[in-house]
Amino acid sequence: MSTDTGATAQARPIVVSKFGGSSLATPEHIRAIAARVAGDRVDGAGRVVVVSAMGDTTDELLDLAARVSDRPDPRELDLLLATGEHISAALLVMALHEHGFEAVSLTGPQAGIRTDGLYGRARITAVDAERVRHELAAGRVVVVAGFQGSSGDEVATLGRGGSDTSAVALAIALGARQCEIYTDVDGVYSADPRLVPDARQLPEIGFEEMLEMAHQGAKVLQTRSVELAWVHGLELVVRHAAGSGPGTTIKEVTMEARQKVRGIATDDGMAKVTLLDLPDRPGMAGSIFAPLAEAGIAVDGIIQNVGHDGAADLSFIVPEADLDRAADLLRGQLPALGAHDLAVSGGLAKVSIVGAGIHNAPAYPARMFAALGEAGVNIEMISTSEIRITCVIDRRHLETAARALHKAFELEEA
Ligand code: ADP
Ligand code: ASP
Ligand code: MG
Repeated sequence: MSTDTGATAQARPIVVSKFGGSSLATPEHIRAIAARVAGDRVDGAGRVVVVSAMGDTTDELLDLAARVSDRPDPRELDLLLATGEHISAALLVMALHEHGFEAVSLTGPQAGIRTDGLYGRARITAVDAERVRHELAAGRVVVVAGFQGSSGDEVATLGRGGSDTSAVALAIALGARQCEIYTDVDGVYSADPRLVPDARQLPEIGFEEMLEMAHQGAKVLQTRSVELAWVHGLELVVRHAAGSGPGTTIKEVTMEARQKVRGIATDDGMAKVTLLDLPDRPGMAGSIFAPLAEAGIAVDGIIQNVGHDGAADLSFIVPEADLDRAADLLRGQLPALGAHDLAVSGGLAKVSIVGAGIHNAPAYPARMFAALGEAGVNIEMISTSEIRITCVIDRRHLETAARALHKAFELEEA
């Protein structure tokens, strides 16, 4: 992302705060957020507030689209989805006016958020923050509709959870003092607190570990928002929208502060694809994964079985939401690949241990697998990186698995 850096010369500090959908679910919630923004002491700082759509609005809009079309046109779908955030932005400004605040709402394009043209998963390419600066200079609170930007004259959305990324991008472009993410939990926990009752709120977590947690399913922050904050060295604070706790700071941590296992990440929407009897020859994996990459389908946990009679089976994991597209793409290629058949199965989940020191702890894989075994959870696939180990399991065992691992790695203790 490129940004204009006029903000650094600006005397007045700026605070960017983002409020998630559950914190804006009803008119009462919106009035409460307006009261919070109005009551916050920010020592004369300029305020930018980024909002998500109210409650489950985005899901409801997706459902509406599905009721008129089996395959909604991606451009039209993005135009539709962007309206969810327009509603909450305009309503929040009306509520701020009730507190006597000068405030104005802007759509993502009006706020200068520019993206590439990949509808539904657009990436921010630049922020032209002139209009926002102008409004701040006029003494207004600027409320920006998250999750969207403009690609040329078109509206594009940033992928689920994308308002986090809108907030981070604006904070960077404006040279903000802080980027606060207000949500429905007290901060980032050692595991999803809805799944693991003993999960502990972390006072801080490093960018690297947070990125891996987000990537492996901890949806408290969109992956791309953490990536962007890390690249630009912008500290993030995650807090409860209706609380007053200190929350969790996401920042660069020293080597000593790194822990072997920082948290458990879970992702319950996974599916497995298996290509049967693939000819065992060079270039085969490339021709399978290139079209998936082109379609923006993320692949994980790739396993190729040892060849038999010159043929091999290849399995991998995709998000369940992408399963139909992945299967369609590969089915069309079966003759060219020389594969015998394609098998798919949904209902899977990923459970990961994440920590910057995992690669220095050779006993950890065994400890993880033993804990799952003792809890009666069968492992279907395993994948690893420097700072995580992931097991693919039956979705029905996700809660049991997450709790067993949280205990086995003693994460309930500070
Ligand atoms: P918002 O609507 O505010 O963007 P999200 O639903 O996107 O909120 O993200 C917050 C949710 O993330 C929490 O309600 C929680 O269930 C989930 N979550 C998953 N993993 C974690 C974690 N490690 N720490 C905190 N929350 C987590
Ligand atoms: N409203 C969008 C979603 O539900 C964006 C966001 O909440 O950040 O994914
Ligand atoms: Mg979110």
